[in-house]
Amino acid sequence: MDIPRIFNITESAHRIHNPFTPEKLATLGSVLRLEPGTRVLDLCSGSGEMLCTWARDYGITGVGIDMSQLFSKQAKIRAEELGVADRVEFIHGDATGYVADEKCGVAACVGATWIGGGVAGAIELLTKSLSANGVILIGEPYWRQLPPTEDVARECFANSISDFLMLPEILASFGELGYDVVEMVLADQEGWDRYEAAKWLTMRRWLEANPEDDFAKEVRAQLTMAPKRHAAYTREYLGWGVFALMAR
Ligand code: SAH
Repeated sequence: MDIPRIFNITESAHRIHNPFTPEKLATLGSVLRLEPGTRVLDLCSGSGEMLCTWARDYGITGVGIDMSQLFSKQAKIRAEELGVADRVEFIHGDATGYVADEKCGVAACVGATWIGGGVAGAIELLTKSLSANGVILIGEPYWRQLPPTEDVARECFANSISDFLMLPEILASFGELGYDVVEMVLADQEGWDRYEAAKWLTMRRWLEANPEDDFAKEVRAQLTMAPKRHAAYTREYLGWGVFALMAR
């Protein structure tokens, strides 16, 4: 079981697989006013940076589930490195439908709401693992500027303009689902640069190491177009944030 290979190549050197910098991730942990011992569930936990750093900095415990073999392995190594392996557990598996056996004070799906078929489904899934008055974290893109055409939307990792909302609308949509937005931390263009530009050097080095690989043509094509595409589209049009929600 694994995710499409291209992500395991392009994001192999990322600790954070989204447009948050380490500082933004720390800000999010701090604004949530986490009590030591709070249990955090992280569906699609990537390389585990959120759980590992929050365990170190705020004393949380937690469990993360991710379908990438590579990222799950990296998460375990990171937990050892930060001395929190006794507090956080990483499971390699499909997070679709995953419900924790113990209720959690925080339940997160940061940058992978498709596992619930979208934001509403992801919230519904997380709720099943959440204790009363617990906090749900949703990491999701929104439009910083509305793309002028569907072609522009497709250059921004969307299938169509309707895939994402503008910031006021996404905030309102949580209310319509019956949730208060109790905090939010938004990525910025520097964060997008860190997320996207970090893939370029990784791809370049991978190409040097794997010239005969079946995938080399695909990776070469991505590396060739990625910088301009990023500057023209993602960096300008796409926002991203983590929204903290509590049921009304
Ligand atoms: N939350 C992490 C990772 C976000 S990227 C972070 O912010 O760093 C999206 C993640 O979803 C990737 O790590 C990918 O491996 C994982 N993923 C995709 N489909 C999944 C599934 N069905 N079950 C579990 N993880 C999945």
